[in-house]
Amino acid sequence: MVKVLAVLYRGGQAAQEEPRLLGTLENKLGIADWLKKEGHELIVTDDKEGASSEFQKHLPDTEILITTPFHPGYLTADLIEKAKKLKLCVTAGVGSDHIDLNAANTKKITVAEVSGSNVVSVAEHVVMSILLLVRNFVPAHEQILADQWDVAQVARNAFDLEDKVVGTVGCGRIGYRVLQRLQGFDPKELLWFDYTDLPPNAEKAIKARRVKDLEEMLGQCDVVTINCPLHEKTRGLFNDELISKMKPGSWLVNTARGAICDRAAVKRALESGHLRGYAGDVWDVQPAPKDHPWRHAFNPLGGGNGMVPHYSGTTLDAQKRYANGAKDIIRRYLAGEEQEPANLIVVDGDYASKAYGQREKKASGHKGPGP
Ligand code: NAD
Repeated sequence: MVKVLAVLYRGGQAAQEEPRLLGTLENKLGIADWLKKEGHELIVTDDKEGASSEFQKHLPDTEILITTPFHPGYLTADLIEKAKKLKLCVTAGVGSDHIDLNAANTKKITVAEVSGSNVVSVAEHVVMSILLLVRNFVPAHEQILADQWDVAQVARNAFDLEDKVVGTVGCGRIGYRVLQRLQGFDPKELLWFDYTDLPPNAEKAIKARRVKDLEEMLGQCDVVTINCPLHEKTRGLFNDELISKMKPGSWLVNTARGAICDRAAVKRALESGHLRGYAGDVWDVQPAPKDHPWRHAFNPLGGGNGMVPHYSGTTLDAQKRYANGAKDIIRRYLAGEEQEPANLIVVDGDYASKAYGQREKKASGHKGPGP
């Protein structure tokens, strides 16, 4: 019998009424009956903070841990030390930065995610976020809710996306799909920055220009979208200094990870007008505290905030894909089968993915960026 522990967000009434909310505490990724039939134990909880949480209580004798980026069970090096039986961490979704990957390597714990499962979901959200910032949508909608009508007040900060320069930091599965989807808006130019090459055909197909220096790219962009993982080199990357290299009055969209952007620096840049807008769904701790500065950060005209809870990658379509993918990873583990190489982040004490930072040892298995 294998003990499986899953940390999932509470769905409440919504999860009872909508069974396709598979990634919730209530609907248990749709794997509860299957694991029970196979004779395994499944514990599901949303209680994840502090030493007396269900998460920490069950961790020491857990063999398979399932977490999601939406309600992350933060698996620190200290907790990994206590998780003596832990063999496999499954991220139901994409992005395993809530796990201390270096510590997982030390203990030879495998970390796998359901690569590709929600990349279209996020790319669509990025395009939506770019549009809602550039077109000043949120303040316009708020007028309607407040029974107001003042065209000039919203039009004074509304623009077209056409003829703008848009750049992505990270051109992997999501970044590439964002560029693909932006073609139809006739931008002036699409730019990308990544240390990993695109396959030549993929690079040709998106008609985007690679810029090898991040600051050089940022200085040219009207819109910047962040699509790289959170790792040692990207934590706090968008601080006061880097944001100052962005074009004055530009827009920043971050659906990658909250901690890639310095929370105080973003608020300062918005309030000064250096950033005209900031949008995304990821926060540096989740759930975001009530007093998180990004909840109430605005540009000098009172707009420019396109923040939402972390849901871009957990649409019902995405949940189906990552629930199925998580089940397949667990099934392979239990059957002693090889994992899909693209799903492996760390394995056998080393990084299998090239996406979590440039490392001296060449990562194998996981494909590079692009489609
Ligand atoms: P991917 O592995 O396909 O691509 C990531 C790319 O980022 C790689 O090409 C890598 O080389 C590049 N990269 C890494 N460090 C970089 C750096 N310092 N500068 C520039 N590029 C860098 O991953 P993906 O599927 O495109 O997902 C990217 C990230 O998006 C995930 O790691 C996750 O954090 C986030 N994500 C968020 C949601 C959501 O719901 N908001 C859902 C899925 C993924």
